[in-house]
Amino acid sequence: MTPEQKLRSLPSVDVLLKREGLQSLIGAQGRDAVRDRLREALDEMRAEFRQEFTTPNNPSNHAAVNAEDLAIEAERRLNQRFAHRQQTLTQRVINATGVVLHTNLGRAPLSQSAIAALTQAASGYCNLEYDLATGARGKRGSGLEAMLRDLLGCEAAAIVNNCAAAVYLTLNTLAEGGEVLVSRGELIEIGGSFRLPDVIAKSGARIREVGTTNRTRLSDFADAINEHTKIILRSHPSNYRIVGFTECPSLAELAQLAQERGLPLFEDLGSGALLDLSPIGLRDEPTVQHSLAARVPVVAFSGDKLLGGPQAGIILGEKVLIDRIKRNPMMRAFRVDKLIFSALEATLTSYAKDTALTDLPAISAIHATKDSIARRARRFVRRVRNEHLKLQLIDGNSVVGGGSAPEATLPTKLISITTPNASSAELEERLRHNAPPVIARIEDDQLLLDFRTVSQAEENELRAALQQLP
Ligand SMILES: *Cc1c(COP(=O)(O)O)cnc(C)c1O
Repeated sequence: MTPEQKLRSLPSVDVLLKREGLQSLIGAQGRDAVRDRLREALDEMRAEFRQEFTTPNNPSNHAAVNAEDLAIEAERRLNQRFAHRQQTLTQRVINATGVVLHTNLGRAPLSQSAIAALTQAASGYCNLEYDLATGARGKRGSGLEAMLRDLLGCEAAAIVNNCAAAVYLTLNTLAEGGEVLVSRGELIEIGGSFRLPDVIAKSGARIREVGTTNRTRLSDFADAINEHTKIILRSHPSNYRIVGFTECPSLAELAQLAQERGLPLFEDLGSGALLDLSPIGLRDEPTVQHSLAARVPVVAFSGDKLLGGPQAGIILGEKVLIDRIKRNPMMRAFRVDKLIFSALEATLTSYAKDTALTDLPAISAIHATKDSIARRARRFVRRVRNEHLKLQLIDGNSVVGGGSAPEATLPTKLISITTPNASSAELEERLRHNAPPVIARIEDDQLLLDFRTVSQAEENELRAALQQLP
């Protein structure tokens, strides 16, 4: 069959749309969407046939194809297009990796009360910028800001989209046109495109590095202050550690120096833990309260890391400075919507009521003991009905994730899965293609599930997924 004959045999879009096999897809996706994707598939096939025509020795040029084969091929390509779309759309997954604040999997799952609050805010109108007492226009976020003041004892608060926005906005407001002093040991990259030197440059300030990579003294800061200095920046090295021959001034020393020289100190905390995690072995995660007690005038942190809430950036500190940040014209570009306010308020209410440990899934997952995880895993394994799978409980570690506490590991019990019928890579892929997708990890050629990040409500779906493995 020549390429021209193939081109002529290709069924039309209208003929294909009448095919039995496409009716359920049309029902689910709509006729127009199916027609558009079908056109793309046919265009792709025509281009390939023309390509064959220009390579005369291609054996497939002469392969016999009939209209039915071509229609089946077009249908296959059409389905592939929709399958790809389905996979890229945001959907729920089961996180069996044991990485609690997995940035690729959406960081902190929300508490039941946060879900209820944001569902309520989403389903109708709310008093986002409306003062119910006076019936006049109100201030967006004023309730949440009051909660933060009460909870943490700071003078003022501002809420933005994420911690990256908080850092940019703070530096742009307080240091534009001047110098930012920062230790060479803290010029961090958080991942993705957040690199502190680039953010400082974009904020309109100039970076002035002080000290060395491993040792920076208070005198290095003191000596670097000049008439151009606008702010001292301290950033928490979230995702790495400098160990060995090291030195850096304490937060309180730095705060005192800044105050003596009439400069603001700004701390980019990143993780923003409100609960002290040192009792469970996470010693390097400073709390927000620690920074405020050290009299840091401006502190910024994320809402969806160790706070366990929705994506947000929280800026706390002295009222005069926070008010200036709020008046920055770019504030509007970084403000958050009613969904985030409602979820964040509910999350902070759990802290105010002292129920964060049980209410917030990320916080409770971080605190789960190896024994409690082992108990759940053992009970789960006993009920899996699949004669081919070998399920074993082995010791291992979970991690906090989200760039927090890189060295700290949380002891856990893992379920290792092997089968004579498939490799660990094949098992991993099958679970990833499950509905809902199950994300597992592979170590030493074993597929591993960590129940630290699997909720009780997900266990039945996870069991069904395992029962379908070969
Ligand atoms: C994570 C992190 C950021 C960025 O926070 P997002 O909320 O993801 O924008 C900034 N600074 C530090 C120190 C961090 O750890």
